[in-house]
Amino acid sequence: MVDELEVLKQLQNIDGQLYHLRREKQQAPQQLEQAQVVLTNRQTQLKAAEENVKSLQMTQKEKEIELQTREANVKKLQGQMFQVKTNKEYTAMQHEIDTLKADNSLLEEEIIALLDQVEEASRMRQEEQKRLTEAQAAFEDERRRIQKLTDQLDAQIKQLEESRQQLLPKVPPVTLELYQRVLLNREGLALAPLVDESCGGCHRRLPPQVINEVYIGNRLVSCESCNRILYAHTLDGPQ
Ligand SMILES: [Zn+2]
Repeated sequence: MVDELEVLKQLQNIDGQLYHLRREKQQAPQQLEQAQVVLTNRQTQLKAAEENVKSLQMTQKEKEIELQTREANVKKLQGQMFQVKTNKEYTAMQHEIDTLKADNSLLEEEIIALLDQVEEASRMRQEEQKRLTEAQAAFEDERRRIQKLTDQLDAQIKQLEESRQQLLPKVPPVTLELYQRVLLNREGLALAPLVDESCGGCHRRLPPQVINEVYIGNRLVSCESCNRILYAHTLDGPQ
């Protein structure tokens, strides 16, 4: 029985490592998700910056077309001035032309202001493009790092699984079944040492006859509370 427990302890040592390595492997892709969120965010920002440039350019173009139309109107009126008959008509038309010209210079100022805005928006778009490129590089670095980590974990897991396979024939089937069942339900820890008079797994206080049985070691004793197989610390020391 002591030998059996010793083998189980070796198995537990391997399974404990396997449990943590597999969990680490499982969680690895989550680290990439964070980099993916940053990347998606940057893509959205760039798209918004691009749309801002486009929208400003479109407004600028519209205003330029409007200005051309208005300037053509002024020219047309100027042409008509030669055909007017009376001074009154002439003055009225001159006034109309002056008003149109004043409106046009306001429009010209608007267009100049828009040109500045387009320039500023283009600068921001370029900045966003730079940030996106950086985020893409960071994402790629992170992806490679996680791939490397996963490969390392796979190699470690494979090695431990091989060691595990070598140990399995040394454990009687009934014991192995019990052990595996506890292992699955107790987060990779099927064995627990006695700690004072309690179970080292769940810290529940154990009845004296259970403790005695563990020390006597005639059969495997499980904790009534967490089902872990109990062992005495003295097994670790010199026999
Ligand atoms: Zn327990």
